[in-house]
Amino acid sequence: MARSYITHLECSLTGENTYAAGEVHNLSAAGRPLMARYDLDTLKNEADRDEIWARPGGFWKWRELLPIQHSRNIISLGEQVTPIIECAKAAGFVGHKGELLVKDEGRLPTASFKARGLGIAVSMAKELGLKRLAMPTNGNAGSALAAYASRANIETYIFCPDDTPLINVTETSLQGGKIWRVNGYIDDCGKIVAAGKERMGWFDLSTLKEPYRLEGKKTLGLEIAGQYQWELPDVILFPTGGGTAVVGMWKAFAEMEALGWIGPKRPRMIVVQAAGCAPLARAFDAGKKHAERWENAHTKASGIRVPQAVGDFLVIDIARLSGGRVVAVDEDELMDMWREVSGLEGLMLCPEAAAAFVALKNGAEEGWIKPDEKVLVVNSGNGLKYEMPDQAGSLDITTPIDFEGLAPTG
Ligand SMILES: *Cc1c(COP(=O)(O)O)cnc(C)c1O
Repeated sequence: MARSYITHLECSLTGENTYAAGEVHNLSAAGRPLMARYDLDTLKNEADRDEIWARPGGFWKWRELLPIQHSRNIISLGEQVTPIIECAKAAGFVGHKGELLVKDEGRLPTASFKARGLGIAVSMAKELGLKRLAMPTNGNAGSALAAYASRANIETYIFCPDDTPLINVTETSLQGGKIWRVNGYIDDCGKIVAAGKERMGWFDLSTLKEPYRLEGKKTLGLEIAGQYQWELPDVILFPTGGGTAVVGMWKAFAEMEALGWIGPKRPRMIVVQAAGCAPLARAFDAGKKHAERWENAHTKASGIRVPQAVGDFLVIDIARLSGGRVVAVDEDELMDMWREVSGLEGLMLCPEAAAAFVALKNGAEEGWIKPDEKVLVVNSGNGLKYEMPDQAGSLDITTPIDFEGLAPTG
């Protein structure tokens, strides 16, 4: 029987390792994210990579490397391994000559990769007996939280900026979440959670302020390794806001290397932000460890509109350590790219992933992504959730239709 090999948790800044598994935790004593640790030495002898990979279903197949101790606490919505899809036309369009694959996370329950983090975190909340969860969100995390928590009979209090895409707000309440629009940014929403949690008996599920959403995001890295036959791609581009996905993938790579599942080769991690909200890119360029808050943040790619992130130093470190970089891309280019790539490939890209394509184009042009490199872009969510460009024409049935006019030749 598969079981969790979790042993304890550790402060990501100081390495203090006195935090017990099976207990409720938020941040470390130093106010930084906690990381779950596993008995990888024992697991190395007891588990077989290929047997685990061959298990049916999606992210729950990685039981040994997840924190949940009892199967009865697992909340599942029928997760699957999300497909990686070859995008040769998009590669041509952005000027990349090598392999280009897109991992389509829009196929997960609630149609974004947030399902990974919240599926695990809510299952842990159930295991720990938590009854009321609260969270700030830019949209996709809120709907994933609502969906998994409602199944587990856990109450949710969700706060989002008042210009969050309408579908994110309505899908969240339809799936049983209580949600409020707030006239501020996601970090302002986070302050409401922090201020109300004592009085309301809320557990704070903010990004990296509890340790288990990260464990769920980790499964993205595990899955990529399996899909690439345990030889990771040369470059991974990920649209980044709070940074759990990047930190989670990196943690997965480290654990897999310790287990002997992969070698030491790491992809260069290209952390992509929008020019209207690029605190991590600014800190990276300035050679800083931490990022200052970005004022007047704006971008249509709402998932990456995060003015300030508690895990900033982790993301910046990973970009440096991997030989990658943190880049900001132009908003107009991002919106054009969204239309172009979706149209070329028939993919329901989200605008966040379009930002990653702009970064790939810039990398190919400027030579920091090489023509023979294997590139993976993560489509972090389903484009249907956003206000899409309306490109339809209109026809008047009371006048003759000008058919040739429907297909103008250029
Ligand atoms: C949350 C989100 C992101 C950013 O992910 P982080 O882990 O917070 O960096 C990117 N794209 C979409 C669609 C998202 O919902």
